[in-house]
Amino acid sequence: QAKEAGRNTVRFFDPQMQEKINAHAQVEQDLYRALERREFSLFYQPQVDAYGRCIGVEALLRWQHPQQGLIPPGRFIPVAEATGQILEIGRQVFLQACRQQAAWQASTNTAQLEIAVNVSARQFHASAFVDQVQQCLQETGANPERILIELTESILLKDINEVIGKIRALQALGLQFSLDDFGTGYSSLAYLKRLPLAQLKIDQSFVRDILTDRNDRAICRSIIALGQSMGLRVLAEGVETQAHWQLLRSDGCEEAQGYWFAKPLPLAELERWLAQHAF
Ligand code: C2E
Ligand code: MG
Ligand code: MG
Ligand code: MG
Repeated sequence: QAKEAGRNTVRFFDPQMQEKINAHAQVEQDLYRALERREFSLFYQPQVDAYGRCIGVEALLRWQHPQQGLIPPGRFIPVAEATGQILEIGRQVFLQACRQQAAWQASTNTAQLEIAVNVSARQFHASAFVDQVQQCLQETGANPERILIELTESILLKDINEVIGKIRALQALGLQFSLDDFGTGYSSLAYLKRLPLAQLKIDQSFVRDILTDRNDRAICRSIIALGQSMGLRVLAEGVETQAHWQLLRSDGCEEAQGYWFAKPLPLAELERWLAQHAF
């Protein structure tokens, strides 16, 4: 009842806001059903080294909605984060990625492949996260050294010492860490120097216009130099053309991901792609 009144008040002042609230509530309801009916799956996007060889894949979540078709994560992850549903969704994503790593480990062609898994700030900060990861590893027999957890700078809104402690606990299990969308969020160099990372991912917004925008190119070049001089691997996201990749290569970039190499692919297509690309 109170909820109704709240809604009416909002509608009175701002119909657009009301629409957003309704849409959010609808997604939340649909997400419960999606979890029950297993409508989520992972797509995999190849990541390549300086020579264009595939060294890993990023697991990207997709929602096969019975009416709306394939829904990209940008449309439901923010809702799942707000409602807390991300905890269960994220657990299933991590478990599935571990199962996949374990399967690839069994075959010599794919044993070296790394899987990068996105973990949201809320999931990372949950008290059960380390146990959950440990359980997934045990249950599947996955090799933790082939799993890279991608965090965004939003984890830094909490106490940095807690963040470092948790990363270290997970590193002790063998996992590695990457900082996703680097440069778009809350990171400062003071934090960066303390985070025990293996990789920085240059956000695609800096990569998109490197051919024409001197500032974007300067930013990419600086991130590459900064990361490498700190002993980190640096991967450029959103590499869409050969010209982008050539420029990034000439600025010293040694890892990339983007439509130029491959789009995120369902498992069967990825395995076909892998078979055609030596790695
Ligand atoms: P992200 O982790 O930065 O992932 C990269 C996004 O860039 C993906 O979008 C990918 O499809 C897209 N992309 C890859 N190459 C190119 C390119 O060459 N050009 C362009 N324009 N885009 C490219 P996607 O799959 O829609 O995912 C969006 C975001 O949703 C991800 O950004 C990540 O933050 C989040 N996400 C995806 N899966 C998960 C998940 O399992 N858990 C969590 N917490 N977040 C996820
Ligand atoms: Mg990512
Ligand atoms: Mg990213
Ligand atoms: Mg992104």
